[in-house]
Amino acid sequence: MSRAENPFLALTAPGLPGLSPYVPGKPISELERELGIRDPIKLASNENPLGPGSRAREAVAATIADLGRYPDGGGFELRRALADHHQVDPAAITLGNGSNDVLDLVARTFLQPGVEAVFSEHAFAVYPISTQAVGATARIAPATDYGHDLDAMAALINEQTRVVWIANPNNPTGTWLPGKQLCAFLTNLPKTCVVVVDEAYFEYVREPDYPDATTWIGELPNLIVTRTFSKVHGLAALRVGYGISDPRIADLLNRVRQPFNVNAPAQAAAVAALGDIGHMEKSIALNDAGRAQLTAGFDRLGLSYIPSVCNFVTVDLGRPAEPLDQALLSAGCITRPVANYGLPNHLRVSVGLEEENARFLAALGHAFRR
Ligand SMILES: *Cc1c(COP(=O)(O)O)cnc(C)c1O
Repeated sequence: MSRAENPFLALTAPGLPGLSPYVPGKPISELERELGIRDPIKLASNENPLGPGSRAREAVAATIADLGRYPDGGGFELRRALADHHQVDPAAITLGNGSNDVLDLVARTFLQPGVEAVFSEHAFAVYPISTQAVGATARIAPATDYGHDLDAMAALINEQTRVVWIANPNNPTGTWLPGKQLCAFLTNLPKTCVVVVDEAYFEYVREPDYPDATTWIGELPNLIVTRTFSKVHGLAALRVGYGISDPRIADLLNRVRQPFNVNAPAQAAAVAALGDIGHMEKSIALNDAGRAQLTAGFDRLGLSYIPSVCNFVTVDLGRPAEPLDQALLSAGCITRPVANYGLPNHLRVSVGLEEENARFLAALGHAFRR
């Protein structure tokens, strides 16, 4: 929309006119409404196909009686549980309405017009959005083999850099950085910027060299690590995530944070989910099997894919994904085209239940034969 069509554009932060909204996975209800498809499957938003475990469900149910009250704005119980879990000071934790909220708090705290944020090509879409929304300049490093190229990122860092965004592993590529490499990069960053290591998929990763960046916070005071309850814990609808950092950074993020950003059912569910190791293990095992099922299916179809350590696989269809995506939607399979990530021939497919993965693979094979 041009300035003539929307005069309010001239009133916004400088980055906003160039901003495109985040494109979420199509909701199941929308496909039902628009295409009249019954019983579609959604493999588009990297959700846990099992949903939450029974402990989290019960914890949510127990909050219903108190829905008339504001939640605990300080999130005392949840912060204490997280502090225990990570062996950090509760003052190091910033709760968010999803970890996206924490990313946004970082942008609002450290970015403004005239300063820069550095991230990788194909990196998570919230980094450019949060950066541009506050008028800061995005500096995008070219990827190597679809993953973060830390040398290329380092080359973009200067006195203007305030935030470096790193997803480990990254969405939508499923690529990851080993501990030694990442730690060396973080250690060499200037003290004049903060760095976010976004570990939304942490629990799914099995690789022995994959690092837990939360263990570095003591030595790296400019590091902020984010985690979420939306993925392995199956609580995407409730919106709860968190950041761990030096308490002096957390203090700043908490100044910007809305007082009641995490609702009461979400806080209760998160505490319960954190203690439900059984549900987590079950979810991870299901994911390992489902990811192998998807990649075996891609192999049979002769398709290459980006090796993933996450709960999704991004497959190269060898041609523009858009028409095939339309065919998949007609067959009731919602997946995620990633052209907006600079990957027009790829499709990101979340790992679902065994029967969902099978139905998707059959629909994909059918779409190719048409
Ligand atoms: C899903 C995801 C998140 C988590 O988002 P929430 O706001 O916590 O639901 C964060 N970062 C990446 C890279 C993701 O893919």
